[in-house]
Amino acid sequence: MTQTAGAATPATIPETMRASVLTDIKTLSIEQVPTPPMASDEVLVEVAAVGVCGSDTHYYRHGRIGDFVVTSPLILGHELSGRIVAVGEEVLETRIGERVAIEPQKNCRRCRECRAGRYNLCTNMEFYATPPIDGAFAQYCVIRTEFAHKIPDSMSDEAAALLEPLSVAITTMRKAGVTPGSSILIAGAGPIGIISAQAARAFGAAEILVTDLVLERRERAVRYGATRVLDPRETDIATAGLDVNAFVDASGAPPAVMSGIKAVRPGGTAVLVGLGSSEMSLPVEQIQNLEITVTGIFRYTDTWPAGIHMVSSGAVELDSLVTGRFGLEHAAEALESDVDPNSLKSVVYPNGYQQSNS
Ligand SMILES: [Zn+2]
Ligand SMILES: [Zn+2]
Repeated sequence: MTQTAGAATPATIPETMRASVLTDIKTLSIEQVPTPPMASDEVLVEVAAVGVCGSDTHYYRHGRIGDFVVTSPLILGHELSGRIVAVGEEVLETRIGERVAIEPQKNCRRCRECRAGRYNLCTNMEFYATPPIDGAFAQYCVIRTEFAHKIPDSMSDEAAALLEPLSVAITTMRKAGVTPGSSILIAGAGPIGIISAQAARAFGAAEILVTDLVLERRERAVRYGATRVLDPRETDIATAGLDVNAFVDASGAPPAVMSGIKAVRPGGTAVLVGLGSSEMSLPVEQIQNLEITVTGIFRYTDTWPAGIHMVSSGAVELDSLVTGRFGLEHAAEALESDVDPNSLKSVVYPNGYQQSNS
């Protein structure tokens, strides 16, 4: 059986689309912008659901994250799912209609890091919603065909969008070396901490300790796989004898990093995921004398297939993380919803909210 590569069907694609554009700090406006042009190896995706990430909120409030500065209007949003509505000439036409989760990056395939298989560290990376590359608070987006991952019918649009933060957690577990029977300490019970706790369980961790200052967030961690939760104001994490294989910081708080590394056993690993201070003190003696590996993570490489399996097998559950649903015109409210301690994940629906799983 032969399948022909398909040409885009321009008749069905509107020339412009609605997008929520960040035009200034804390200023979003709904604009009619050109539908992004599709390269021959790309697909055009009608966006279904977009999760709001801490980085989106940071750009919205501060106009920058470290060296990444918003200098011109920017469309936010990089955690998304949708449906392929058109394909470039090199892509099989049979992909049209597929429901997909988007891995929101485009590496160059040519630089040293790409050639070494670390495409997350590509020096020419174009990543959604990172200036000057637009994200997905819009009706359509384009992505290279291999980064539009087909999802099963059983998976909701929301869960498919949240495969992005799950990918962060999978990368974290890989870096932390979590294997069946491991013990892990996670600081911070926000979205990444909660999804990391679930990922740790899926990776076979036996002990999953989660710390957070807020009671409601600790209680939530228990519902998502924590075997024990700790309030760092009541328990001195550094001296409590936790003796874990791995520590994951999902808080960005310097005291949590300091005490968390001190809770790691000899030869263990600390992974710094949380965005906080760009510089902080570390317990160097501990790191030296116990040969602790301290590392960060930057996005992900080859995590969507694992994430799709983890969700469809039930090992990880993402749907219940959604605490707020917003239309495109309410994207600002979605970005500001993190001030409510009960809010965990807000989702924006650029084409309106509709029941997924068609
Ligand atoms: Zn994110
Ligand atoms: Zn590259």
